[in-house]
Amino acid sequence: MSIYFSMRLSRRRKLLWVSICLVAIPIAAFAIQEISFKPGFNLYTPQQDVQLGGQNAAQIEKQMPMLRDAAVEGYITKLGRKLASYAPDNLPVYVWQYHVVNTNDINAFALPGGYIFVNRGTIVAAQDEAQLAGVIAHETGHVVMRHGTHQASEMAIARAPLSILSGILGSSGSVAGNLAQIGLGFGVNSIFLHNSRGIEAQADEVGTYILYHAGYDPHAMAQFFQILQQKYPQQTIQFFSDHPNPGNRVKAVDQEIPLLGPPRKWITDTPEFESIKRRVESLPGPPPARH
Ligand SMILES: [Zn+2]
Repeated sequence: MSIYFSMRLSRRRKLLWVSICLVAIPIAAFAIQEISFKPGFNLYTPQQDVQLGGQNAAQIEKQMPMLRDAAVEGYITKLGRKLASYAPDNLPVYVWQYHVVNTNDINAFALPGGYIFVNRGTIVAAQDEAQLAGVIAHETGHVVMRHGTHQASEMAIARAPLSILSGILGSSGSVAGNLAQIGLGFGVNSIFLHNSRGIEAQADEVGTYILYHAGYDPHAMAQFFQILQQKYPQQTIQFFSDHPNPGNRVKAVDQEIPLLGPPRKWITDTPEFESIKRRVESLPGPPPARH
């Protein structure tokens, strides 16, 4: 009885090991190539990202026409937070707040700390949920890689003598306040919204990673940017000025995708996206531009 029992156990163990290996080996093969993302040099703390982003977001909400519709805002927030939950380097301090700007221009932007703005025109231009998710995933990449304050930090280094900066870093006062004193202001048209090509390439990489892990077609983001450029040249001037094309965008993404893991059954569209898109199209248009 006991021999029979132990034999059964050992057979079970063997089976267990075989099944663990079958699952673990492919995972390990991808884990070796796992892409890691690191935010660049930064003089700010993540808490200061939230503080600065919040101040700028409040200003933007006053200055730009906002689409105040609970269903649309609720949908974007749910989608955005789902994507953020798959982001690398996502810190608990980030707020993940989403707003829709009532303008037909196709754009989206992110402020430090997790304030993401998506234009009405972007929702209408997206052909499916994966494309809209791609834009939001790209913006999420700017937040978690802390691109706004990274660029502000690099400008500070370029402007201030190292002796002053080391004083700032060593002082107990607010880094943001001290940096403001050496001429770094943070208005709506601030450096937070102007990204370099290197930064765009990193936001693309992180965005693609997020799409893959959230179960969306990871090709959707780069493809959408390409469609936008060809189909809406007039409406995307601001988008491509805030997000300069890093060049070979589609090619770079195509090279990254196999490193993320095996192909899956991707989500491309949902009935919820289609109904929100119809709702956005039916809502009162943006106010005439003020000149
Ligand atoms: Zn960007």
